[in-house]
Amino acid sequence: MDNLIQLVNRLQRACTALGDHGEESTLPTLWDALPSIAVVGGQSSGKSSVLESVVGKDFLPRGSGIVTRRPLVLQLHRIDEGREYAEFGHLPRKKFTEFSAVRKEISDETDRETGRTKQISTVPIYLSIYSPNVVNLTLIDLPGLTKVAVDGQSESIVMDIENMVRSYIEKPNCIILAVSPANQDLATSDAIKIAREVDPKGERTFGVLTKIDLMDKGTDAVDILEGRAYKLQFPWIGVVNRSQADINKNVDMIAARRREREYFAQTTEYKHLAHRMGSEHLGKVLSKHLESVIKSRIPGLQSLINKTIIELEAELSRLGKPIATDAGGKLYMIMEICRIFDGIFKEHLDGVRPGGDKIYNVFDNQLPAALKRLQFDKHLAMENVRKLITEADGYQPHLIAPEQGYRRLIETALVTIKGPAEAAVDAVHAILKELVHKSINETVELKQYPSLRVDVGNAAVESLDRMKEESKRATLQLVEMECSYLTVDFFRKLPQDVEKGGNPTHSIFDRYNDSYLRRIGSTVLSYVNMVCANLRNSIPKSIVYGQVRESKRGLLDHFFTELGKKEGRQLGTLLDEDPAIMQRRQSLAKRLELYRAAQSEIESVAWSK
Ligand code: GDP
Ligand code: MG
Repeated sequence: MDNLIQLVNRLQRACTALGDHGEESTLPTLWDALPSIAVVGGQSSGKSSVLESVVGKDFLPRGSGIVTRRPLVLQLHRIDEGREYAEFGHLPRKKFTEFSAVRKEISDETDRETGRTKQISTVPIYLSIYSPNVVNLTLIDLPGLTKVAVDGQSESIVMDIENMVRSYIEKPNCIILAVSPANQDLATSDAIKIAREVDPKGERTFGVLTKIDLMDKGTDAVDILEGRAYKLQFPWIGVVNRSQADINKNVDMIAARRREREYFAQTTEYKHLAHRMGSEHLGKVLSKHLESVIKSRIPGLQSLINKTIIELEAELSRLGKPIATDAGGKLYMIMEICRIFDGIFKEHLDGVRPGGDKIYNVFDNQLPAALKRLQFDKHLAMENVRKLITEADGYQPHLIAPEQGYRRLIETALVTIKGPAEAAVDAVHAILKELVHKSINETVELKQYPSLRVDVGNAAVESLDRMKEESKRATLQLVEMECSYLTVDFFRKLPQDVEKGGNPTHSIFDRYNDSYLRRIGSTVLSYVNMVCANLRNSIPKSIVYGQVRESKRGLLDHFFTELGKKEGRQLGTLLDEDPAIMQRRQSLAKRLELYRAAQSEIESVAWSK
C-alpha cells in the first residue's frame, strides 16, 4: 500500500522538477491528476499547527496574524533509516537538518516573493521532508481566509486569498482538510463554507476541529465530533495543538502529542471518542483515504498518461527535428529541405499538385486571343496598303512589283506579334512565381526556419527572373527572325500576274488602283497569317524551353553554388529557428520525459498491486 502513495509522491516530485506545477499553461499537466491534501480555514484557526502535528515536526511558521502568505506544497517521504532532513524545490541538493532553519527559509522565501509586506502570492513553495517518522503524504498549507484587509494590505486581499484557496481545493483530486476552531461558532466557519462550495456532497472533505482545549468552560464539542452539529461524510476529528504559550516555551512535538492523547483519554466528555481523535489518528485516516483514492485513480491516470504521450509526440514531430550542430549537418539539413521544396515545386508543374495547368491555359487561350486582337486585316486594309506602298516607293514608283512595299507591310504586321509574345513570357513567369510561393508554403520543413524560408523563396524567384529575361530574349528573337527573312516559296507559288503587277498595258498609275492594292493586301495577309500560325506554335516551345523546363531542372542551382561558399556560422543564421518554436520543442521534450517517467513508474506499481 505504501508504494501507492510513494508513487504519487514520486510523480509529484517529477512534476515539480520538470516545472509542472499544475499552473495555467499550454502544456498538458499531470499535476492536476494527482491527489493532494489541502488545509483550509480562517486565519489563526490552527491550519499550520494541524499540518505540523500530522507531520510530527515543528517546521512551519505559526502565530497570530497572516503568517502563511504563499501556498506551501509539502511532501512527506518515509525513509527507512537515517537522519531526517528537508529539501526545498527552490534550493535543490541543499539538505536542511535543522527544522528551525526550515521555518526560517519558508519565511525568507515568502518574503522574497511578496516583499516584507503582508501581501500574498499564489506562487507555491515546495518542501520535501524525508523522515522515518512520517507517512507518505502530500499536503498543501494555504493562507488563511480573512474578512477584512489590515494595514498595508490591498483591499482585494480578502478575495485574492479566497480565490487562491478555491483554485487549489476545487480540483476534484484535492482532499480538503477543513479546519475550524472549536472556540468559535461552527456556523461562522470559513472552512466549512468554502469546502461546501466546492464539494457540496462532502465526498472529499475532512472536518478537523482545533482548539478544543480553549472552549468556554461548560461547553463541549461532542455534538460536532459526533456529527450532529454539521454532518460530513467522514467523521469529524478533534485535535489539540500546542498553544502559543507552548510554542513560546518550545514544548516539543512528542510531548505535545502525548499531552493530546492524555487530553482525549482523560476528559470525561471525549473519553468514548478518544480512539478516533488526535493528530496521529488524523494522519492515519488521511493516509488510508489517500491510498484508496490513488488506487481508484490508477487506471484513469494510466490512460491520461498514455494519451498525453501520444499527443506530445505528435506535436514534437510536427515541430520537426532540432538543428544539427556542425556545419556539415547544417548544410545537409538545408539541402534536404531545399530538395523537399524543389520536389513540391515540380509536383505542381507535373500536375501531381494543382497550378501547372495554368501555363497551358496561357498557350491555349491567352496567346491565341492576344494574336487575334492584333487584327492584321485592319492593318492590311486598302488605305493602309496604299499608304505604305507609296511611302516605300519614295520618289520613284515601283516598276514591276512593289518589293519594298511588301517587305514593309509584312514587317510592320509581324513586329506587332512581339507584344503577345512578351505577354506570354510574363504570364508564365507570374504563374511560376506563384507556384514557388505556394511550394514554399507547402514545405512544412521551412516553417521551422524563417530565414531559410525567405532566402530559398528569394533565390527561387531570382532564378525565375533570370530565366524570364533569357526566355524573353529567345522568344522575341523568333519574331525578329520571321521579320528578317521571308519565305520565298510562298510568293513564288502565287499567280504571276498578281506577283508581277499584272498586265504591262496598264499604266504605272493603274497599279495603284483599288483592286490592285486589295490584292496586295490579301496576299500579305495570308502570308502574315501563316507566319503567325507558326509563331503561335513556336512561342510556347520557346517559353517552355527557357522557363518551365529550366525551372524544373535547376531552380535552386544558383542558391546551391552560393550555399557551398558559406561557413558554419552563416549556415547557422540560415537555420535560425523561431525562438518560440525552439522554446516550445524544449518544453514539450521535457514534459514528454516527465510523462515517460510517470508511465514507467505507474506501470511498475500497477503490476505489483
Ligand atoms: P493558521 O493561521 O491557521 O495557520 O494557525 P496557526 O497554526 O498559525 O495557529 C494560530 C495560533 O493558534 C497559534 O498561536 C497556535 O499556537 C494556536 N493554536 C492552534 N491550534 C491550537 C489548539 O488546538 N489549542 C491551542 N491552545 N492553541 C492552538
Ligand atoms: Mg498558517
